[in-house]
Amino acid sequence: MNRELLVGVVVAIAGMISTTAQAQEAMPQVLFTNVHVFDGVNEARIENASVLIEGNLIKTVSTDAIDAPDAQVIDGGGRTLTPGFVETHAHLMLMGPSLSAMEANTTWEDFAIHGTKMAEMYLMQGFTTVRDAGGANAGLRRWIDSGQIMGPRFYPSAAFVGTRGGHADFATFTSPPGASTNFSRLNLSQEVSGVDDIYKYGRNNFRMGATQLKFMQSGGVVSAFDPWQLLAGSPEEIEAAVQVATEYGSYVMAHSYRKEAMMNALNAGVMSIEHGFSFDCEVAEKMNEMGAYISTNLTAFDPGLLDVPAVKNQPASLAKAISASATFENYIPNMKKCPVKRGFQTDCVGSVEACNIQIAYEKHLNNEFFGPVQSMVTITSIGGEMVALSGDFMNPYAEGKLGVIEEGAYADILLIDGNPLEDFSVVGTGDQWFGADPRPDSPETIRIIMKDGVIYKNTLN
Ligand SMILES: [Zn+2]
Repeated sequence: MNRELLVGVVVAIAGMISTTAQAQEAMPQVLFTNVHVFDGVNEARIENASVLIEGNLIKTVSTDAIDAPDAQVIDGGGRTLTPGFVETHAHLMLMGPSLSAMEANTTWEDFAIHGTKMAEMYLMQGFTTVRDAGGANAGLRRWIDSGQIMGPRFYPSAAFVGTRGGHADFATFTSPPGASTNFSRLNLSQEVSGVDDIYKYGRNNFRMGATQLKFMQSGGVVSAFDPWQLLAGSPEEIEAAVQVATEYGSYVMAHSYRKEAMMNALNAGVMSIEHGFSFDCEVAEKMNEMGAYISTNLTAFDPGLLDVPAVKNQPASLAKAISASATFENYIPNMKKCPVKRGFQTDCVGSVEACNIQIAYEKHLNNEFFGPVQSMVTITSIGGEMVALSGDFMNPYAEGKLGVIEEGAYADILLIDGNPLEDFSVVGTGDQWFGADPRPDSPETIRIIMKDGVIYKNTLN
């Protein structure tokens, strides 16, 4: 090596070392002062506090003044500082208007563009984390995490896994068993038959970026071939899904309606019950023993559901909806009598505008049924615990906790006008679903949205 080149290399290495040292010294800091902190867990706010962010983590939460001379200071003006919200059951890729339309007439571009817009909408509604319950692989997360598009932290399930004729079967009526579909080619949904298929597609899902698996045990109301009461999946098949998830240190979320379905799932080791409308105290006991969670879309209890065109205009769907509603009427009383850890779920399939309205309405129903304090815990720390079930090596965000304001947690933060623990409407609720006016891009009362230490919205000035 000639001398000039050698000197150049040495200078370059020295430069790299000093840049690294500087980066360590000069991590950007943001200091929130004059805020009341809801920590995601406790009803009592930490009054008149300061919160120091360093890089992408929360460094200090204190009622004493924090000395941080180089920090960007944000005077919270007595507003409430809360964790960013966590959605535990979305489908960012699925734009509707129906499963058959998506199967027949969409390309990967439709899904990707819709997913991009949904991700941005969710973040601006205050959700800094979204768990996807089927239909999204690793791509969307890569683009969000590299900062090229705006969106929440993202926990995809890759393809729904379900049996022939079950809730993940979007093929046309005459399509033979196992035939390739639009959904299967894009790994949005996979039909399985037997434990070998579950091993194959379950492992493929993790290979394609899933952070957990989604298994379809029950049927649906609008879907084509399945009674909602379906008990899909043998104990061996559900156990096979749990087996694959366990290989990856992760867990299974199961779409379960009937009590038998929930008990089958829990007995196999499923940790997240989705919908769980026939929930009762025996299910609660089993869940609490295991430390399992439930995620329920409360919009399913809305009487307006029977007026949805997709339901109303299909006699078979209408009959299913009426019988399901009758069975679900004990859900809320049972949940109050025998509480379990419940995550926030919207489960919207449809346009960005429609999902924006549905999210606001789902927020509203949480408050109607469970009050503001429980709703705040549900939409923050419980969701944070649920996504952390993905385990140390599949969790893409394992550096800090999510859904809480505490030292060492991720700096995912909202600054909200007023006190959402007393008046939940300030989180951006909407008291109408069908026929509601279009909603703003972001609720006015959410003044700051920070994710990973980066501010995406600030209307304080
Ligand atoms: Zn769903």
